[in-house]
Amino acid sequence: MEADVLVIGAGIVGLSIAYNLAEMGCKKIIVTEKEFAGAGTTGKGGGGIRHQFSTELNIKLTIESLNLLKRFKELTGYDPQLKSISYYLLATEEEEALLRRSVDAQIKQGLHSTLIEPSELKPILKGVKLDDIAAVSTCREDSWINPPTLLQGYYDSCIRLGVSILEHTEVKHLRKEGCLRAETTVGHIDAETVVIAAGAYSGLIGKSIGVEIPIQPFKRQVFYVEGLDKVAEPNLVLFDLHNKVALVNRVEGPIVGIHDRSTLGSFDETLNLNDAPYVKEVAAQRIPPIKKAELTGGIAGLYEMTPDRNPIIGKIASVEGLFCAAGFSGHGIMHAPIIGKIIAEMIVKDKPSIDISQFSINRFSNNKQVYEHIVI
Ligand SMILES: Cc1cc2nc3c(=O)[nH]c(=O)nc-3n(C[C@H](O)[C@H](O)[C@H](O)COP(=O)(O)OP(=O)(O)OC[C@H]3O[C@@H](n4cnc5c(N)ncnc54)[C@H](O)[C@@H]3O)c2cc1C
Repeated sequence: MEADVLVIGAGIVGLSIAYNLAEMGCKKIIVTEKEFAGAGTTGKGGGGIRHQFSTELNIKLTIESLNLLKRFKELTGYDPQLKSISYYLLATEEEEALLRRSVDAQIKQGLHSTLIEPSELKPILKGVKLDDIAAVSTCREDSWINPPTLLQGYYDSCIRLGVSILEHTEVKHLRKEGCLRAETTVGHIDAETVVIAAGAYSGLIGKSIGVEIPIQPFKRQVFYVEGLDKVAEPNLVLFDLHNKVALVNRVEGPIVGIHDRSTLGSFDETLNLNDAPYVKEVAAQRIPPIKKAELTGGIAGLYEMTPDRNPIIGKIASVEGLFCAAGFSGHGIMHAPIIGKIIAEMIVKDKPSIDISQFSINRFSNNKQVYEHIVI
């Protein structure tokens, strides 16, 4: 088989890239997927769209993605069910300066981000311990979408525009044979351009062609909580920067997560209910009523971590025709719309409309990493 562009991975990022390439007039696009579309981290991810990052470029990527999400129904016919949601980031004195700097960076980009006095939050965060909290931030533009609808919108639009999506087709090796050749479980695919968008598995594909792509899997578990009534108003996300406790207070019921004790580098993504007592213990430091609640089940998926917790986007200069769009370190759904557009522009127009060079793979060899401090 031959393609002009081969995209490896049919997660939200790979499908957004293929859709944007097709929209820009690129012909013969193939997407290969080892399982089925959305089987990777995308199928586990929440729909949080937050602007509250510490890295200026991440703030910009959310702004641009949100602009595209507002037009998604008009472009694809699928309604991503965009709604407004409040994220509250809680900082003790230790993280206060970081939170203030991040809010300033967001305001500079025109966002309505603010710092709130912790005491003001008492009525809406009734069961949350606030006495050691020095500052809380929120951003009026933060939102939520429905990830499966977004994925379906990209998938169906790809098909409509003539993209071939080959599911159950795993890339085993990538080689340079004049053009790039992907050896897959159903034969080889030759392409001038290949984009690695394989999420947590991207490093393995890089390795097969002799390129080190520093992306490692890291299990992230979130648990459904029963018996935690009225701890906070519904429809909000709380993140305690100090203890790394996240509470997503959905209308259907709360979900809680902490930064796991999992091993970086393991591809195991089974939910482990034996971790529930430890999760409760950590979460109770911020939400004391959780001690009496029950963790009844949950979701586990692989975060795709890079050393500086920012994605690797763009050309891999050592292999002509090879690109990478992976390593979102837990915030890939919200940035997929704009990243798809940027990668397609790099391939079709040779120049993206947004300068993304800060996230080039070269930053690791040039010692120019940009650390993202706010990873939920
Ligand atoms: C519990 C949880 C909550 C989250 N909440 C949010 C949130 O609120 N907001 C947000 O923006 N992000 C969130 N995320 C992160 C988000 O889900 C990911 O960053 C995003 O889905 C990454 O998309 P991707 O397309 O890069 O990777 P993936 O979805 O993993 O897609 C990569 C695909 O490549 C395929 N693949 C791998 N190897 C090969 C191969 N050799 N050949 C062919 N195919 C291959 C995989 O099967 C997979 O389908 C969350 C993640 C988790 C786990």
